[in-house]
Amino acid sequence: MKPILFNLTDGELEQFIVELGQPKFRAKQIREWLNRGAPDFLSMKNIPETLRTQLQETAQTLPVRIIKKLESSDGETTKFLLELDDGEQIESVLMRTTYGNSVCVSSQAGCAMGCKFCASTLLGLKRNLSANEIYSQILVAQWELRSDKFKDRPIKPNGDANNGDVSHIVVMGTGEPLQNTENVIGFIERANSDMGIGWRRITVSTCGIVPGIDRLIEWGRPINLAISLHAPTDELRCQIMPINNRYKLAEVLDAAWRFTDLHNRQLMIEYILLGKKDENGETILYNATPDHAEKLSELLRGKNCMVNLIPWNAVDERDFASLSGNAVHRFQDILIKNGVHTRIRRERGTDIGSACGQLRLNNAKK
Ligand code: SAH
Repeated sequence: MKPILFNLTDGELEQFIVELGQPKFRAKQIREWLNRGAPDFLSMKNIPETLRTQLQETAQTLPVRIIKKLESSDGETTKFLLELDDGEQIESVLMRTTYGNSVCVSSQAGCAMGCKFCASTLLGLKRNLSANEIYSQILVAQWELRSDKFKDRPIKPNGDANNGDVSHIVVMGTGEPLQNTENVIGFIERANSDMGIGWRRITVSTCGIVPGIDRLIEWGRPINLAISLHAPTDELRCQIMPINNRYKLAEVLDAAWRFTDLHNRQLMIEYILLGKKDENGETILYNATPDHAEKLSELLRGKNCMVNLIPWNAVDERDFASLSGNAVHRFQDILIKNGVHTRIRRERGTDIGSACGQLRLNNAKK
């Protein structure tokens, strides 16, 4: 396998370059390109062409390689299917929004959690990603954003997202970040120190691994926490999220409030609205009845949180149905009536299968 230069320390990189008969300062130049996310050596413009070609044949830049890049028709969302050194595939998504450029990163190849509505977990867990593999997903997005300047891309209302840098990170791609907590922490520390992304612009989403939340509390950085709740009772949650057999709702929320109290941060609650088909083929509410909305309100009333209502992105292998906008609004109205903050998550990039592990799954099926 070709050495991955991004993974080398400065000393190792220097040695590598010197062994090629090159002056030391080239190592520094190459490092700068690597830190900017250069996907190949040929784009390293201040390196002599012969060296660029030599490196291209003998080494690799980042620990991820783009094997597919899909762009939504509105030009706002770019999805990357990336290959790791051992052939595993992961996905990341760049979203150009009015508040900045957000990247959704994967923390694992595959997922062991087994949530019944999700595509990412269908092939099981392959392995944890290293901090470098997670960080490289941001670099790929950053490189893409900088090349936006050369494309005819519409200017955003705030004027700067068009040629801005990555400003927000959500650890909401494939995998359960709190099953890979130390590497996720390492990644976030680096995104903050090397890329200058503020703690408050970084969100980690978990299905509710209580010891992992405790570890984030101990770590003490004021990032945002999101809990994938998706059901207001243990009975229902156990049916769709096996992790609930291990950590019950009350325990998960208790840990989450302890986290948010620490920095006075608002907790994000994710709630996918799921339907089922009855025997006549009609869609019925699964976790989205008025009673569920009332029970959810009871759990959250008076707490510092925001409920993100998420329309379900249909997954062929999964036995659920998406709900109409009306059903989503009726559910939301009950939360609002009960004084619970809520918003409906805008769907992005559904035309490119941007949701939740679909790209990787479809590629594996081929
Ligand atoms: N394992 C973490 C992070 C990855 S999942 C977690 O559970 O939070 C990111 C979010 O996408 C979670 O809220 C997850 O429940 C949701 N999700 C999974 N599959 C989905 C689908 N098909 N449609 C909409 N949201 C989905």
